Amino acid sequence: MTALTASDEATLQPLLDSRDDFPVLGRTTASGAPLVFLDNAASTQRPVAVIEAMGDCYRNYYANVHRGIHTLSEESTAAYEQSRTVAANFIGAAVDHEVIFTAGATASINTVARTWGDTNIGPGDVILLTIAEHHANIVPWQQLAQRVGCKIEFLPIDDDFLISDEVVQAALQKHQPKLFAFTAASNVLGTENPVKRWTKIAHDHDAIVLIDAAQAVPHRAVNVQDWDADFVVFSGHKVCGPTGIGVLYGKQTLLDAMPPFLGGGAMIDEVKTSGFTTAALPDKFEAGTPPIAEAIGLAAAMQYVSELGLDNIANHEHRMCERADAALRSMDGVKVIGPTPDKKGGIVSFQVDRIHAHDVSQGLDHDGIAVRAGHHCTMPLHEYLGVTATSRASFYFYNTMDEVDQFIESLAKVQKKFA
Ligand code: PLP
Repeated sequence: MTALTASDEATLQPLLDSRDDFPVLGRTTASGAPLVFLDNAASTQRPVAVIEAMGDCYRNYYANVHRGIHTLSEESTAAYEQSRTVAANFIGAAVDHEVIFTAGATASINTVARTWGDTNIGPGDVILLTIAEHHANIVPWQQLAQRVGCKIEFLPIDDDFLISDEVVQAALQKHQPKLFAFTAASNVLGTENPVKRWTKIAHDHDAIVLIDAAQAVPHRAVNVQDWDADFVVFSGHKVCGPTGIGVLYGKQTLLDAMPPFLGGGAMIDEVKTSGFTTAALPDKFEAGTPPIAEAIGLAAAMQYVSELGLDNIANHEHRMCERADAALRSMDGVKVIGPTPDKKGGIVSFQVDRIHAHDVSQGLDHDGIAVRAGHHCTMPLHEYLGVTATSRASFYFYNTMDEVDQFIESLAKVQKKFA
């Protein structure tokens, strides 16, 4: 691992200082040990700025948006729409109304499957996925296949847990998919896929591209225009924002051509007994009362993370990942499930000989260390790898190198206990 330069130290300090903004990081766990929270791929924690932004909304100006001609509704509407601008800037969208607020990454993918999918995919058409997708990027397409009779093909990973450009190219050539939907970063392997390159290859084969950016947007600077992907989805709660909110980004031409998914208030232009006409973007895809305080909380989270700097965050996570990965690989009886750190973000999954992942997790919890155990909503990947469960440590900017060391020391203790 490379040593920290003075400028690394300078960029690291604000990240370490940020711990004070997260009240929960100061608590102890059931055993009385100080919390070491390494379950960030499942969900991150919230800084006071987010909690206060939502509290401020509820305390001072909350009302339903878009409908009321009164002060509170106008203030809520302005804050809600300003949140869309913040989200659009955060991911580099060309215009605000290409950002649709949804309940999360899962809801975003389901929306695309139900609208774009039902309209554009027919019997025999192919949807191309990777074997490392989260269930959120598999099941909606399987449901679409049940509805319209399309086929799903999965790109395999190689022995280094990677997919080469040649394999992507060959699959696109062979299957001529209408859609290539893949994760920007695997929530198990940690692999960061070359989104821009694969999108270009897919477009060269006339495929539409959907990027599951749930594990990318919180951790590195993302620019959807640079990626040139057609759809990009992510969740608020993985970027220090609230639960119940996420984003569906889509290119305007595609979103304009898609029928609405949910029907109800807000998504209409006019309703008569004979039928309805649809509102323009983004309302068309935001039927009903939207997650108002959640959008405001998400904007506060994005502003908070932006101030820390996505490049600084990515560097720090990478260093923690390198340290954890190297330590795990050096332990007898521990196998890292994932590529080398140069190919991944801040996620390290592993297996320990003769100890079930749940027991590993429980043993670590005794020392206050929170990691995740199980299939992490990637059963096809686990089946492909021939394993039933893995343990996963996932880092965020508020984690420290000391915490990485505590995790490794605690894991050695767990191994001894089960020896
Ligand atoms: N995609 C990936 C890669 C994920 O890691 C997750 C959540 O773990 C999701 C999609 C689904 O996110 P949500 O449950 O917030 O909808």
